[in-house]
Amino acid sequence: MKSKDYSNQVTSFTPLEPQQMIRVALVEGLKPQYMEGERQRYRRLLKAYVGVDERRIDQLFDIIGMEQSARTGSQKKFLNVLVNEVAYDARTWRPFDYDALRREGVVIDYSGSPSGLVETVLGIDESKVVLARDPVWVYGDYVKHLDWRNKSALNGPDVIIAFAQEKGFDLPESFLRYRRPTEEVYKLLEQHGFTYQEALRIAIKVLKDPRYANRVISALVTKHKNGSELRFHHHDFVEAAELLVYSHRHNKMVTEKVGDKATMYGNRYHGANQYLVPRRTPEPGSTHDTVEIHYLPDFQDPKNGTLEWMNTVVSCDCGNDLNLRNFEERRGRRTYVITTLDTHGGVVVLEIQRRKGINANKNPQNLNPLPTPEFSRFVDMLRYNIIQETEVQDEDRTKTVRTYVPEKGIEILINELAKRADWDFERMYQPGQKIGRFVLRPMYTF
Ligand SMILES: [Zn+2]
Repeated sequence: MKSKDYSNQVTSFTPLEPQQMIRVALVEGLKPQYMEGERQRYRRLLKAYVGVDERRIDQLFDIIGMEQSARTGSQKKFLNVLVNEVAYDARTWRPFDYDALRREGVVIDYSGSPSGLVETVLGIDESKVVLARDPVWVYGDYVKHLDWRNKSALNGPDVIIAFAQEKGFDLPESFLRYRRPTEEVYKLLEQHGFTYQEALRIAIKVLKDPRYANRVISALVTKHKNGSELRFHHHDFVEAAELLVYSHRHNKMVTEKVGDKATMYGNRYHGANQYLVPRRTPEPGSTHDTVEIHYLPDFQDPKNGTLEWMNTVVSCDCGNDLNLRNFEERRGRRTYVITTLDTHGGVVVLEIQRRKGINANKNPQNLNPLPTPEFSRFVDMLRYNIIQETEVQDEDRTKTVRTYVPEKGIEILINELAKRADWDFERMYQPGQKIGRFVLRPMYTF
């Protein structure tokens, strides 16, 4: 994530509005990494849209263009003053003319498939904003009542078959025909080390199969043997890493309310445990959410109960997680219970490993993989450099509504990224450095 002031927690965790994204991009375009002509264009646009003396924009342009080491102390202080005058929440901004910004190449129109949108985002940098018209997630339920086509099943037949092929073992004929795992299949998976991370790695590989090309994927799921389901979302993995780092940096700790799993010698994985996790945007009287977990895999000894992650149940009492809690419908009848490992559940998973001194990045049963700097930056582009645009009927006239991309859209786009041949599990997860060094990026650093 990005913030101009992490000491303001609520603002840091609040998504930017469309006009704020463009304000950030316009200042970004002054950086010396851009071509001189490009920088001049952004200076001109800032003069047109910010109501401060034009000379101050020139001074901002000049100081940003200098080598950092060449700046004097007073220039550094002055830079901070000038940056505040053009920050996205400054009162000096005038309304944007979107057509003009299109012509200047700051705003880029896109309409089409999610895969094309990902392609577009990968081709731009932080000085541009994509205006995505009528994205697919606006129409249809990609959050609650998911069709099987919109899920990627971590322990589904496609992943199991690909795993067996990679490891070079044979699956029973009956499984290949009916695609329902039996005890025999589970035994084989256990023998060959089908851990959570292996399942996720293979699931990302399977997504590259042309059969998935036209499937909009908005959730990862593990199917329990009784038919219930635990859902995961890539964006929650990223948010959990951010919230964990944020919480530690600001002394807002996770506490274990029931159980002792988070202690060095605590209960390894069985039993119910409850945790209080700091909220991202706390309100008076509501500073924490309660996460309840059953049957976590054994983080300390990952080979013990290799498939335990298929039994894991996690739920959180925050509004988002309660909204996701669900009954699956089969042939019009309510059957299974759906729970989700949301951001807060992910924080608990990471915090337990931290307290036990386990390297989550290398743990094959880590349920919340850590993002690489490159993947984290991509997710930030989805958050800060795409505006979605739709038309709604308001009484007898049509109105254009512009907003940031909601979580379901971000999730769908991440799965589109995972479908690409050049983005495998290792490129998305498995960072080569500590997450604290990059997940909380500062905004407006020059
Ligand atoms: Zn929650």
